Amino acid sequence: MAEFTMELNEDQRGVRDWIHGFAAEVMRPAAAEWDEREEFPWPVVQEAARIGLYSLDFYAQQFFDPTGLGIPMAMEELFWGDAGLGLAITGTGLAAIGVLTNGTEEQIGTWLPQMYGDAGDVKIAAFCSSEPDAGSDVSAMRTRAVHDEAKDEWVLDGTKTWATNGGIANVHVVVAVVDPGLGARGHASFVVPPGTPGLSQGQKFKKHGIRASHTAEVVLDGVRLPGHCLLGGKDKLDERLARARERVRTGGARTHNAAMATFEASRPTVGAQAVGIARAAYEVALDYAQTRHQFGRPVIDNQGVAFQLADMRTRIDAARLLVWRASWMATAGKPFTAAEGSMSKLFAGETAKAVTAQAMQILGGNGYTREYPVERMHRDAAIYTIFEGTSEIQRLVIARTISDVPIR
Ligand SMILES: Cc1cc2nc3c(=O)[nH]c(=O)nc-3n(C[C@H](O)[C@H](O)[C@H](O)COP(=O)(O)OP(=O)(O)OC[C@H]3O[C@@H](n4cnc5c(N)ncnc54)[C@H](O)[C@@H]3O)c2cc1C
Repeated sequence: MAEFTMELNEDQRGVRDWIHGFAAEVMRPAAAEWDEREEFPWPVVQEAARIGLYSLDFYAQQFFDPTGLGIPMAMEELFWGDAGLGLAITGTGLAAIGVLTNGTEEQIGTWLPQMYGDAGDVKIAAFCSSEPDAGSDVSAMRTRAVHDEAKDEWVLDGTKTWATNGGIANVHVVVAVVDPGLGARGHASFVVPPGTPGLSQGQKFKKHGIRASHTAEVVLDGVRLPGHCLLGGKDKLDERLARARERVRTGGARTHNAAMATFEASRPTVGAQAVGIARAAYEVALDYAQTRHQFGRPVIDNQGVAFQLADMRTRIDAARLLVWRASWMATAGKPFTAAEGSMSKLFAGETAKAVTAQAMQILGGNGYTREYPVERMHRDAAIYTIFEGTSEIQRLVIARTISDVPIR
């Protein structure tokens, strides 16, 4: 049995330091410019691909780290560099997890390489679940996928919203309703290959933060997909739908649908991103408090400032521990009996929002300007209590899991 340790091993430290170097030397100097431009930062993603950081191999290596800490460690460093650029580099991962969670081995082997491309020809992917009337409530989804049996093709119609990389991605993973009578249990995931007619970008959103990350509507208008684009395949879908119909008939327990499985697998990863942003803001604030003098002494000499920094650091470390625990549990196959994945995302997201606000306060007037990075970090952090399930939804999941009561 492995000895218990909370130290990263030598390999992990090496990878962490390598990513930290990229974050410090490439991401940080470019962060303010791409935040202002509000465009997808292709040169930064291409540079990440050139050094092997944006690549299927890199993510596979970290994903299969037996401790479970490979991905959260990588995320924390990248988002310490910058959250908007970090999401541009990691946004494809959500679609990749959609395929990994629901696809057959053949589909994984076919689509994952097409989602990342290679250093000379970088590709990106988008995961499209949310809709204008179906955000937290995925059961309200309306995008329909209808099977044309004669041709073994699926026809998709509907509008997705808030899709990271939506419309500019090479590969889109789309969740759609295949049986409207089953609510969230009647959903299935599809891969929309590059250049498929009928898929187009709708509105591109102008955002408060993470502005280097592209977020847009995706319109599906009579999109025809060959049968093999249904993730998991038709037989598996038919079996799952038959079980769901039986449960509806007998009033049995709920099952996870495809989109929920995807979100569950990615929550600690998102929590790690929030930890990275919080740590970045805390470091700026600690440095500023030690060098800024008022009343003839550094402002950190005042307990009012120093205690804030103590609380910030304590919350960040606690958030990281929750993220690491959930990531370890996922890798070790431990059941999430208290929704520990949701817990980690909830606490880390709230921590990032609170800590970046405290950092702005510690920097005084400077904190409120774009001369210093903490106002950007605060704008970026605000998304972490909203996407991948809002904080309220995380609390709902945790409360239901610990109580077994269908709390509303
Ligand atoms: C920048 C960005 C990127 C995104 N990327 C993606 C992506 O790549 N793919 C994708 O599919 N989606 C993506 N999303 C969508 C995101 O996951 C949703 O915005 C989120 O799930 C919330 O849905 P909503 O915005 O419709 O809010 P709503 O569900 O309308 O919620 C509004 C408010 O009501 C609260 N609320 C709702 N229901 C309950 C309840 N039962 N109990 C208590 N409170 C409740 C919410 O917490 C929230 O405060 C992204 C969103 C943003 C902003």
